[in-house]
Amino acid sequence: MATLEISFVQNQLELRRRRLEEAIALAPQNAGLAGLLREVDSALERMAKGTYGICESCHDTVEQDRLLVDPLVRYCLDHLTEIQRDALQRDLDLAAEVQRKLLPQPALRAGGWETSYHYAPLGPVSGDYCDLIPSDGQLFFVVGDVSGKGVAASMLMTQLHALFRSLAGTGLPLGQIVSRVNRVFGESALAGQYATLVCGQAKPTGEVELHNAGHWPAIVAGGGGVLRIESTGLPLGMFCEAEFSATRLQLEVGDTLFLYTDGLSEAGNGDDEYGVDRVTRLVRQQAARPPAELIAACLDDLRTFTAGAPRLDDLTLLAIKRRG
Ligand SMILES: [Zn+2]
Repeated sequence: MATLEISFVQNQLELRRRRLEEAIALAPQNAGLAGLLREVDSALERMAKGTYGICESCHDTVEQDRLLVDPLVRYCLDHLTEIQRDALQRDLDLAAEVQRKLLPQPALRAGGWETSYHYAPLGPVSGDYCDLIPSDGQLFFVVGDVSGKGVAASMLMTQLHALFRSLAGTGLPLGQIVSRVNRVFGESALAGQYATLVCGQAKPTGEVELHNAGHWPAIVAGGGGVLRIESTGLPLGMFCEAEFSATRLQLEVGDTLFLYTDGLSEAGNGDDEYGVDRVTRLVRQQAARPPAELIAACLDDLRTFTAGAPRLDDLTLLAIKRRG
C-alpha cells in the first residue's frame, strides 16, 4: 500500500481502538469487543513491523480496496477460509438482489411511449444504470455506465439511481437535474471515478429533450431515417461545475430511441469491436418492430458477432418507441 493509504488506515485503526476501549469500559463482559481489540492491536503491530497488508498464507499483497473497507483483513481473496468465502458470496448475492430491485418495471408504457430493456451484469452486480421514471404524464429515461466494475461501481450506480429518482419528480428542468446530479455525484465519488450517461425526458407530444454526458451516441430511427445524438458534455463526476447542454428532438409515431452501454459497442470477437456503426445499422433495420423485438434482434446479432468470445463488460440496452 502507498504511504498515504497506510496512514489513512492507521488513523482509522487508532480511532477504532479508542472507540473499542470506551465500549469495553461500558460493557466489560462482552467477549466479542475484547476479541476485536486484539485484532486491531495485531493489525497495528503488523504496521509497525512492516508486514501489514501481506497475506498470511501466500505472503502476496492483500487487495487494497478490501483493506480500505476492512482494515482487519489478513488474507488475500485466494486464501480466504471456506467460511469467509461463503460470507462474501452471501454479501454479493444480497447486493445483486438489491440491485435487481432497483430496475424499472419491464415493458413499461407511459405517456404514449412503449419501452423494453435488457440489463445483464457481467458479475453478480453491475456498474450500469438503467432507469425509466414516469412522472406527470412524461417519461424520464437514463442509461449510464459508472467507471470501473464490480461492487464499487455498483455502489455508485445505486447513488445515481437515488439522485435521479429523487430529482425526477421535482419539476426541475432536466438540465438542472443533470447539473445537480453531477455536483453531488462528483463530491462523493473518489478521484478518477465518473459516469457517462444519456438521460432524457419524453413528452406525449413526441418532444424529447436529451442530454448525452460523455456517453456513446444515442440512436433515433424511424420513418425519417436514422440519427445519432452524440455527446455534448463531459462525464458526470469529472468536474463539479461542468455545464450540460440539451439536444431537442421531435419523434413521430413509430420512431424509436435506442440507448446502450459499452457491453454492446465494445463487445469483441477476438479481431474486431461491434462498434457504433453496427449498432446504428441494426437499429435502422429493426426500427419498425416493437421495442422488445428490437432488443431481442440486437442480442441475436451480438451473439452472432461475438461467436462465443467471452463477454468482458456489463451490458445494458434500452429501446423507447412512440406509440400511435
Ligand atoms: Zn494469499
